[in-house]
Amino acid sequence: MDTAVKTTKGKTSIELLLGDISNQDTEAIVNAANRSLTPGSGVSGAIHSVAGPELYEACQKVAPVETGNVVITPGFHLPNPYVFHTVGPFYQGGGPAESTLLARCYENCLKLAEKNNIRSIAFPSISTGIYGYPKKDAAEIAFSSIKKFATGRSTISVIRIVVFDMSSFVIHKKAFKKIFNLK
Ligand code: ADP
Repeated sequence: MDTAVKTTKGKTSIELLLGDISNQDTEAIVNAANRSLTPGSGVSGAIHSVAGPELYEACQKVAPVETGNVVITPGFHLPNPYVFHTVGPFYQGGGPAESTLLARCYENCLKLAEKNNIRSIAFPSISTGIYGYPKKDAAEIAFSSIKKFATGRSTISVIRIVVFDMSSFVIHKKAFKKIFNLK
């Protein structure tokens, strides 16, 4: 089975990949952080362990971060020059306030990437681990936000979502096809 899907909007390639967020060739990767920017398990654990203790120190200078917001640090020992730390909502039923906050994570990261002339960025599926957001709903919110952004005059060439296991990939692929009207 394929472990990647792609589509194009304007000049932007939008990709879904089965892989590890801490091993991406993009200029920026996104950390699914908590408000205090302390390393946990999942995405933040993987990112911090590759980036090294310098990332923890850099994070402590810019923490705390409000849910839906984003801050940038260097990537240190990661292959990526930049790490974006965004805080997804904790799932408590998925009402409009929560879905708006999740969409805002993607929008704010993409806006900030553009502002910093960053041409490629990889996201994990924010809030779908410890924060408990159902993957189908979260994936549709993620791809809708990306689609909306890339349909404008985006200067970002690659926007990628990286999922870690095959069952997540299958769920995200369905959402990808739905949102981008693909067969
Ligand atoms: P959150 O606290 O926002 O829920 P998590 O890090 O717990 O963030 O998980 C977010 C999603 O990322 C989950 O679906 C989880 O399976 C996935 N994930 C965990 N580790 C990695 C990794 N190394 N690369 C990509 N995705 C990962």
